[in-house]
Amino acid sequence: MSSDASRNTLWRPYTQMRGAAQPLEAVATHGSRIVLADGRELVDGIASWWTAVHGYNHPHIAGAVADQLARMPHVMFGGLTHAPAERLAARLAALLPGDLDHVFLSDSGSVAVEVALKMAAQMWLNRGVRGRTKVLAFRGGYHGDTMGAMSVCDPEEGMHRRFGAYLPTQVFCDLPRSLAETGSLDATLAAHREELAAVIVEPLVQGAGGMRMHPPEVLATVARLARRHGLPLIADEIFTGFGRTGSLFACEQAGIVPDILCLSKALTGGTLALAATVARREVYEAFWSEDPAAALMHGPTFMANPLACAAANASLDLFESEPRLEQARVIAARLADGLEPLRRVPGVADVRILGAIGAVQFAGAPDLAGLKARFLDRGVWVRPFGDIVYLTPALTIGAADLDRLIDAVTAVVTERGAATP
Ligand SMILES: *Cc1c(COP(=O)(O)O)cnc(C)c1O
Repeated sequence: MSSDASRNTLWRPYTQMRGAAQPLEAVATHGSRIVLADGRELVDGIASWWTAVHGYNHPHIAGAVADQLARMPHVMFGGLTHAPAERLAARLAALLPGDLDHVFLSDSGSVAVEVALKMAAQMWLNRGVRGRTKVLAFRGGYHGDTMGAMSVCDPEEGMHRRFGAYLPTQVFCDLPRSLAETGSLDATLAAHREELAAVIVEPLVQGAGGMRMHPPEVLATVARLARRHGLPLIADEIFTGFGRTGSLFACEQAGIVPDILCLSKALTGGTLALAATVARREVYEAFWSEDPAAALMHGPTFMANPLACAAANASLDLFESEPRLEQARVIAARLADGLEPLRRVPGVADVRILGAIGAVQFAGAPDLAGLKARFLDRGVWVRPFGDIVYLTPALTIGAADLDRLIDAVTAVVTERGAATP
């Protein structure tokens, strides 16, 4: 091992450590800004993987966490309960559509997806139905990095190719982009209906898979087809939840009530790790039994961590007291005005806007490292991936900071267009 390698005690995400550039050191955050150790202050276009919906360091969330820290930072959830978790579950049940009333808390999005997959599988077993061992998932999807979650991610992506032999085999289908394309989903469901336990979808936007969007009518049709074939629908709202698409939850725009819904990312306003898997009454009732073995077999050590629940409750307070959805609409309009003209730039394949999400897709794979460096030169924190440059800012971002992000994307994309033969 070279001395270089032995110095890397910290193993970084999705990073080839050999020759990896030293990451920038962040020392503070505030609002939509990240302060670096060298004194630079970046305008944040990503809101830390779209978690920090209220901006960084919101005093209401910080205060709620500090109060909880003084009282009870953590207590086990087996055999005990506490007010922050009880209150959060009741509030999520009230906010979510229909009878999505049964909240299972965990500590990350991937685990929330694992719990959802397990809920669907055990629901069938509890009903005495065997052999339903697969999930129908959509190409281009992203549901997390743990084994079960990876198995329902896009099958062509790197992780799948690498770990294929370790992963359960699922059934994949193209996500229809319009109502005219829903026939193949119907046929796939019909062909596999006896071996399927559930359908999983990211409502309205496939996020980490490339910011690919579909209209609410398509989501409504996916929900209707799943129901027609007797399958529970799992909505992974980990990216879309809490205002990102312009409504509090993306499912609302299609008027659907999924059977199981996953939340994380913005649940605590970007302050602490927390996730929720929420089930409808009918799913919950499949576990309601005289038989102890019919209980849901899951229980993370830090389940319902009181600090994280306090942060989530404070975040929900802010959705009630501050105009977040209106802010998302203002951001959407500004993103549309600013980014739509980039369609005409050579080398740009598509521009997509939905709520506070703006994405520019290139026709070919860009030089990611070069693009990232140019964004830093312009004082903004924007991280292109694959063939996409995207913005998912805090919903509280000020007009001047949002303009700086849009101007930076415009300049960097246009420079690249000018250099494209
Ligand atoms: C981020 C994400 C996950 C995984 O969440 P982690 O907290 O990173 O495990 C799952 N699904 C979607 C849609 C996501 O955006």
